[in-house]
Order: sequence, then structure tokens, then C-alpha cells
Amino acid sequence: MTTDPAPTPALGIDVLSIFPEYFTGPLDASLLGKARARGHLRVDVHDLRGWSVDRHRTVDAEPYGGGAGMVMRPEPFVHAVEDLYGTLADRPRTVLLTPRGRRLDQALVAELAREPELLVLCGRYEGIDERVHQLLAHDEVSLGDYVLAGGEVAACVLIEAVSRLVPGVVGNVDSVAAESFAGGLLEHPHYTRPPTFRGLTVPAVLRSGDHGAVAAWRRAQSQARTRAVRPDLVDEDAGDDGSQELPPR
Ligand code: SAM
Repeated sequence: MTTDPAPTPALGIDVLSIFPEYFTGPLDASLLGKARARGHLRVDVHDLRGWSVDRHRTVDAEPYGGGAGMVMRPEPFVHAVEDLYGTLADRPRTVLLTPRGRRLDQALVAELAREPELLVLCGRYEGIDERVHQLLAHDEVSLGDYVLAGGEVAACVLIEAVSRLVPGVVGNVDSVAAESFAGGLLEHPHYTRPPTFRGLTVPAVLRSGDHGAVAAWRRAQSQARTRAVRPDLVDEDAGDDGSQELPPR
């Protein structure tokens, strides 16, 4: 019996972190685990301490100028990149996770998903020496306006969101195309069995079998929900290309 050869991964991601064990669950479970096992996606997490500055595996030092906490030194990051890619210039698009970065959204996720390879840098402590930002970061990316203990959870979020757009990772491409933010709006509500639960009944149109009516209902729900809870997403000047399709108020 012959088996199909594994596909060449459409996206390869390298991660630098001092806590590689942090990624074991998120990268191995469910969608990402399957995508990696099937060869649609490559993710390699590298222990930054492998490029530490001494035999005590040190990667941090006290901040110049004083102040609380420790700062991650530049050498481990730069030496790791040189070992992995040969030269700094040959590194792939490099994302440094930091609260000061551009807020991660679906537009940036889609942009990153078009890259063949990504490098993701995770900070800890008070953050990373500024020279790493200057030498390595093509993108500084934040999850939101709050401070996490480290970049690992942010890296997991980024990897999962980006991977879902990689061909072959999500089985049903329609589900990705119709999701929240894909067309600029939030998604419509979903219902499944039973038809009535605790006095709440599935809208009749969804059980009518009328595909046109279902599509119109979903579009209207999507528009109304976006206006109600995320008016910032609504572009009142959107054209008639179907991307927003907001009715007049
Ligand atoms: N001293 C830093 C500040 O005030 O901006 C916070 C450092 S934080 C404790 C340690 C690391 O967690 C950061 O270097 C970054 O990699 C990661 N991190 C924290 N909050 C983040 C966020 N909102 N988005 C992305 N990464 C974050």
C-alpha cells in the first residue's frame, strides 16, 4: 500500500522563548496538532537558553540606569537568529511580541499568513533589550492594552490565528471565509438542535429550507450585531462590493 507524501508546509514558524515547554499543549492539541502532524504547518520552538551568555544559562541582566526587574540581553536572540538562518539579513519576517506593538487583528493575521516563514520572539521579565527591537523586529505586535507575564501566550494566540488561514489547516474553507472580521463584520448567531431549549426557539427562517432567506437573515444579523456591539468596525462609507453591505439607518 502506498501513502501520499506529506505536503510541504505552507507556513513554517520558528519561536524563540525561554519557556519552550509552555507551547506543548497548545501546539499539540486539536487543529494545530493535526495540521502539524499532516505537514500543513511547521512550528519549531527553540529554547533561547541554548544561546545563553554563560554556563549558568543566563539570558538576562540588570537594566542600565537602574530600576526594577531584569532585562533580556541581546546576544541570545541575535546569536540564535544567526545560527538558525545564517545571517540576520536572511531571517524571515520577524514578530517581536510587546505591549507597545501594533494590536493584533484579523488584517495583520491575514498578512502574516501570506508569509512562507515567520520568526516569533517572546520576551519575559521587564522586556527585551532595545537593540533586539532595532536589529531583529520587522513587526512589534501586542495582544492588547494589558501586560502579560511573557510573550508565550501571545505567541500561541498569534500562531493559532495565523495557522487557521493556512491552506489545509481548517478543513472547511467556507467556515474561515464567513467568520467574524473576514468581511469586516462580526459573524451571525449560530443555532443547532434542539429546536426549542429553555423556552428559547430557533428562528423559523433557519428551519425553512429557503437558502436565500437564510443568507439574508444571517447578513442582517451580522450587520445589526456589529452595529450594536462593535460600531468601531462599521465603515459607513463601504461601497456596494458586498464587504459591509450596511442598510441605511
Ligand atoms: N515592562 C514591560 C512594559 O511595561 O511594557 C512589560 C514586560 S512583560 C512583563 C514581559 C514580556 O511579556 C514582554 O517582553 C512581551 O514579550 C510579553 N508581553 C506582555 N504583555 C504583552 C502584550 N500585551 N502583548 C504581547 N506581548 C506581551
